[in-house]
Amino acid sequence: MSAVESVDVVVIGSGFGGAIPAYHLAAGGARVVVLERGPWLSSGELEHSFKFGSSATRAFDFTAGSGMSVLGGNCVGGGSVVYFAAMPRPPAFVFERQGSLGRRIWPRALSRETLNPWYDRVTESVQVEDATWKDISYGGGLWGALCDHAGRTANPLPSAVDGEKCVDCNWMMAGCRFDAKKSLTLNYLPAAVAHGAQIRPLHEVQQITREGQEYLVHFRTVDPVDYRVLGEEGTLRAAVVIVAAGAGATPVILQRSEPALGAMPHGVGRYFSGNGERLNVVEIDEERVRSVLGLQGRNGGGYSAFQVGRGPVVANWDKLDAALPEFERYSLEQLYFPPGLGTVLARAGGPSPDWFGLDKKELLARWQSWLIIFEMIEDDNEGVFGPPPPTGNSVRLAQQTLGRGTLRYRPRPSTLAAWARADADISDIVGRDGLGVARPWTNDLVGAYTVHPLSSCRVGDDPATSALDNGHELYGHPGIFVTDGSAVPTALTVNPSMTIAAMAERAVPNIVRRLREAGRPVRYGAPVPVP
Ligand SMILES: Cc1cc2nc3c(=O)[nH]c(=O)nc-3n(C[C@H](O)[C@H](O)[C@H](O)COP(=O)(O)OP(=O)(O)OC[C@H]3O[C@@H](n4cnc5c(N)ncnc54)[C@H](O)[C@@H]3O)c2cc1C
Repeated sequence: MSAVESVDVVVIGSGFGGAIPAYHLAAGGARVVVLERGPWLSSGELEHSFKFGSSATRAFDFTAGSGMSVLGGNCVGGGSVVYFAAMPRPPAFVFERQGSLGRRIWPRALSRETLNPWYDRVTESVQVEDATWKDISYGGGLWGALCDHAGRTANPLPSAVDGEKCVDCNWMMAGCRFDAKKSLTLNYLPAAVAHGAQIRPLHEVQQITREGQEYLVHFRTVDPVDYRVLGEEGTLRAAVVIVAAGAGATPVILQRSEPALGAMPHGVGRYFSGNGERLNVVEIDEERVRSVLGLQGRNGGGYSAFQVGRGPVVANWDKLDAALPEFERYSLEQLYFPPGLGTVLARAGGPSPDWFGLDKKELLARWQSWLIIFEMIEDDNEGVFGPPPPTGNSVRLAQQTLGRGTLRYRPRPSTLAAWARADADISDIVGRDGLGVARPWTNDLVGAYTVHPLSSCRVGDDPATSALDNGHELYGHPGIFVTDGSAVPTALTVNPSMTIAAMAERAVPNIVRRLREAGRPVRYGAPVPVP
């Protein structure tokens, strides 16, 4: 084994939770190394193909659990490379949530108001812009028109996409070849590198151990083609470790480290939330849309150009009403999801099983008239991670993308009722005058499904029901911080990246304080990263 290299900070993962502290700490004079399990792909390398072995299959991680599957990024930049760049802020009531815990879940010091300055900073750094009705796609406009026809409201979503550079190629999920999507590879990460941070792709962290007052971070290199093949082992020594491997992987690394580090706080690997997500496929009657709403898409059909997907652009926020009780508040966003997994999971009419058969074949034939509506309800943090697999965050079943993880998710009646309520609302909105038929996804095949994993190491004032203190430091393990989606304590009712990023920004001064206590003269106060 090679000699142990010493640095000030090791950051595990290069998504929002990793890139943001990596930039600030490097800019403040710390020696920072970022270990990222996925490849480092330049925008020119992002292919418009989902062929096996293309950049897209290398940049994704799909982990099937029991009752919940998680899709995330697996590359330098993490989910910011493959995401749809919708960047809304959540409503204030989210921070007051109690769920079945029966008392406030979020730390007392965290509210929409106290987070606002950090949201502002992220808005500036990744250049989030408010969309106008002029910017939106046909699908978004149709969702807006359907809401309006049903006496409801709709809003264009803020997003981190440069409208001048966007060519509307609709391959958003494959990563943006045109540098229009403002992924972290265009802002925080190059700024971190400019300040001396080192980013090491294809390095998968397995475990953290302790030596004196410092931590040892143990990794294995990963084969660039077959991720099941692990190469060299190595170790880095650091005063501070920032675990930001995403909410599906961070708790697994900490669980595997428990025998060496000592007992983990109760919240590690518990209280996982899938952000209450669920998709509905709406089959639009194009003829009725033409005659009733006076709308017509390109080439007569709605979505023929949407090969792989385009971001959510219009949302219905009528139920984001603080006067409603918990579990009755949700948002409904239009987005386009590729007819791959959606094809299998969209429920067709007829007798059970409803995910294949003649009805399904007919539904598929009309895919160009699908409008996809994405609901985000308040779930009850029902996910729990089992004992960790031997390496990584899952047992990898294929060379790339697919693995079987240890997450178990059994939705409580409150969560199931919330999904049923949102499904019924979508049916009501699109069903007026026979404009469309909503078909919710089935959960029978792979359970629920999320691209927004959260809360598996959550912040909270009470160590008995959380993993991190208000400053994101792991209870009982000074010097270990978690700054990714795992730290967000509950579902948000909107897309989470804005909140993950704002919370990571807010955590940095506390990490700097800990470094200074460890004798590392790190400064805080870097400006927003300039691309
Ligand atoms: C298709 C899709 C569309 C989305 N659209 C939106 C959207 O429009 N708006 C929105 O707000 N959110 C969206 N999201 C979600 C968003 O991408 C995530 O919420 C966000 O990226 C999470 O940030 P994070 O820092 O928690 O983790 P990630 O961004 O997932 O970063 C974690 C990183 O850690 C790496 N890693 C994991 N394990 C290890 C290990 N053992 N060692 C080293 N590295 C490791 C991973 O490869 C990854 O790069 C979308 C996600 C997907 C998949």
